[in-house]
Amino acid sequence: MKPFEAVCVPDPETVARWRSDFPILREQVRGAPLVYLDNGATTQKPSSVIDAERAYYEHMNANVHRGVHYLSERATDAYEAARARIARFVNAAGAEEIVYVRGTTEAINLVAQSYLRPLARPGDEILISAMEHHSNIVPWQLVCEQTGAVLKVVPIDDSGALDVDAYARLLGERTRLVSIVHVSNALGTVNPVARLTSMAHARGVPVLVDGAQAMAHLPVDVRALDCDFYAFSGHKVYGPTGIGVLYARADRLEAMPPWQGGGEMIRSVTFEKTVYNAIPWKFEAGTPNICGAIALAAALDYVSAIGADPIGAHEAELLAYATAALRAVPQVRLIGTAREKAAILSFVLDRVHAHDVGTILDHYGIAVRAGHHCAMPVMQRYGVAATVRASFALYNTRAEVDALVEGIARVQEVFGQ
Ligand code: PMP
Repeated sequence: MKPFEAVCVPDPETVARWRSDFPILREQVRGAPLVYLDNGATTQKPSSVIDAERAYYEHMNANVHRGVHYLSERATDAYEAARARIARFVNAAGAEEIVYVRGTTEAINLVAQSYLRPLARPGDEILISAMEHHSNIVPWQLVCEQTGAVLKVVPIDDSGALDVDAYARLLGERTRLVSIVHVSNALGTVNPVARLTSMAHARGVPVLVDGAQAMAHLPVDVRALDCDFYAFSGHKVYGPTGIGVLYARADRLEAMPPWQGGGEMIRSVTFEKTVYNAIPWKFEAGTPNICGAIALAAALDYVSAIGADPIGAHEAELLAYATAALRAVPQVRLIGTAREKAAILSFVLDRVHAHDVGTILDHYGIAVRAGHHCAMPVMQRYGVAATVRASFALYNTRAEVDALVEGIARVQEVFGQ
């Protein structure tokens, strides 16, 4: 990845043009313009994604892979063309490596149950990190309960960076899988995934990357990362909810048994024997989210049209600006200050609960997330119950950071600080 300083930061007119692609950003909230800083939870959708959904239902709605009629062929073509576009976006070797799922959570559960569970033995180890989202903890705990495998956790330092030396030490004879987040939703840390993967592969250990937060912020090239599995959600990269992707190397998918049974995932069924479909359909039981898949491809087309570099440069600039602005506010403590960070800012305010901060900011139309961000172990690591999280997207501006800082000043007034 190029350093962002080497790429021109887009001018405010360009960002204003990007903003105008997102109709919801024109909403007023409690009489104030919406300041949407909860992109880590879900991003807003550009018109092209909304239009793709509408066009699907107006012109091609039918079930896929089943009908002999015109609409079914159209829907199937669009659905499979979307898969090919998604494969190109993440630089997969082929469309068969893209499995449609509901989102990151389902993708990780699929790998846990279909890849790991059949091969895990008592005492085998699954290596994750201390900054994981619950979606990258609990599926492995379930496999541990089911097989007797044990979970090992790589620590992080006070800045929120992964302890790579500890990772090297923890990669052992019994490690069966590494599952690591690309960008932490609670801290913003960007992990050196390519390096971690090559260290794991040197010991013959496959790697799953939780890319839920990375997709909107970084260019993702699964072959450059050389990971075995990469999971992401459409709704966090300007696409719809209810659709996501498990990228998996074809040889891995071929070797894995189906996870769920039903229609779509079979070639033939008799009561004696069922022959499974080829990959990726072997993992797609039941009628899929056809419209969602097509709209997800539209979202990735949107990101491609702008380009990862301008988005990265803009967000890096915004992160630097917001970090400096929040550091200047008395009684604010930033949680997560790793050198490699995406545009996610977690912080706490002395003697004010994060929920109170979030509620008061909402009165000014400012949407942030307040809570544990489904990463309770991260909260425990920092000794806090919750943080306030401002997470940025390509359409956020310096003026919105200023509004956040003013909002925090109002909160401090309310609490007599
Ligand atoms: N991993 C990370 C790092 C996340 O931020 C999230 C969503 N907050 C998830 C996994 C789960 O994503 P989803 O709810 O879309 O399945």
